[in-house]
Amino acid sequence: MRHIDSYNFSGKRALIRVDFNVPLNENFEITDDNRIRAAIPTIKKITDSGGSAVIMSHLGRPDGSYEEKYSLRYIVPHLSKLTGKEVKFATDCIGDETVKMANQLLPGEIMLLENLRFYKAETKGDRDFAKKLAELADVYVNDAFGTAHRAHASTARVSELFAEEKMFGYLMEKELESMEKVLNKAEKPFTTIMGGAKVSEKILIIENLLNQVDNLIIGGGLAYTFIKASGGKTGSSSVEEDRIEIAKKLVSIAKEKGVNLVLPVDNVVADKLSNDSKTKEVPIDEIPDGWMGLDIGAKTIEKFTSIIKSSKTILWNGPLGVFEIEKFENGTKSIANAISEATSNGAFSLIGGGDSVGAIKKYKLENKVSFVSTGGGAMLEYMEGKILPGIEAIRGSE
Ligand code: AMP
Repeated sequence: MRHIDSYNFSGKRALIRVDFNVPLNENFEITDDNRIRAAIPTIKKITDSGGSAVIMSHLGRPDGSYEEKYSLRYIVPHLSKLTGKEVKFATDCIGDETVKMANQLLPGEIMLLENLRFYKAETKGDRDFAKKLAELADVYVNDAFGTAHRAHASTARVSELFAEEKMFGYLMEKELESMEKVLNKAEKPFTTIMGGAKVSEKILIIENLLNQVDNLIIGGGLAYTFIKASGGKTGSSSVEEDRIEIAKKLVSIAKEKGVNLVLPVDNVVADKLSNDSKTKEVPIDEIPDGWMGLDIGAKTIEKFTSIIKSSKTILWNGPLGVFEIEKFENGTKSIANAISEATSNGAFSLIGGGDSVGAIKKYKLENKVSFVSTGGGAMLEYMEGKILPGIEAIRGSE
């Protein structure tokens, strides 16, 4: 496998798959440019060392044909500003005209291709479409972690066409390094905090993590299925009845493996899901009928916080309550702060998957944790122990 740091890009055209799937407002202005910024080091490395960059991405979910609101042309001025270079735009991601433009690129020049998903062939992982993309360059660089779990044409398929001349970009390397640090090289004690809405979405990741963690903290909506499983009264809280058996099984696996599985002891319950609801704090397993648990309580915050602060490796996935509503954000905010404090005391913290990324940004703590993953689904699948096609297609040549 080639490495971006040691590869000689001089005179080479690099086809770079990035994730520029950024939010745009109705005036086509970018409202959050983090994903674009995240790809700049890779682009700069290539152009600064005498290569040219053919950049490709998807944006939104167009239906396999042109839709103006998903055009990448609106990204051009901002990309130009961030790279300090003129960016040429190919109105079609494949075809003769685009091949001609790519052939004419001079060292240091950048060109951006129109949205890959204007072709259905992209998400179908079509080999002929991948061949047409491969014609645009001499070397392939994948820096789009967010789509690494999909065998799309511009990720897995195109990679297979560059026998040796392929590598990860810096962002992808950082993502992989962070996940490895947690999954295989975790300094102990290693604590995972799982929150969010549903157990059903987190079973596989919990199962896999039970092989690695010392503490598994469970909060948010998914805690209630566990509470019900142990005979608690959950009122109208979100319980997945059909997952009660699996929750019991996870608890017994944790016991077998000597993992400290920690559930909330108290919670904030409300009579409805809104800021003007009536609320009170009650033990987690004594929720009266008609009330639902929407945030962790004070005793739980104290318990979770003390475990987090004595951990050396922390993985956080999913909010501890309905943090989008002010009344129920205290738990999530306190946990975000505890993770940030543990990080400043030397712990390694990885935030990713689900809404914990949104939470860490809401509390402006993204620079106070070790790494915030850019890939929701991709990160979860990696943590579940699955093979990600976009990553394997590059590593396969090792
Ligand atoms: P996820 O995408 O799995 O991280 O789930 C995030 C969602 O879980 C957020 O929208 C939260 O509002 C929701 N959530 C967190 N705690 C609870 C709870 N106690 N009851 C219902 N939903 C919750």
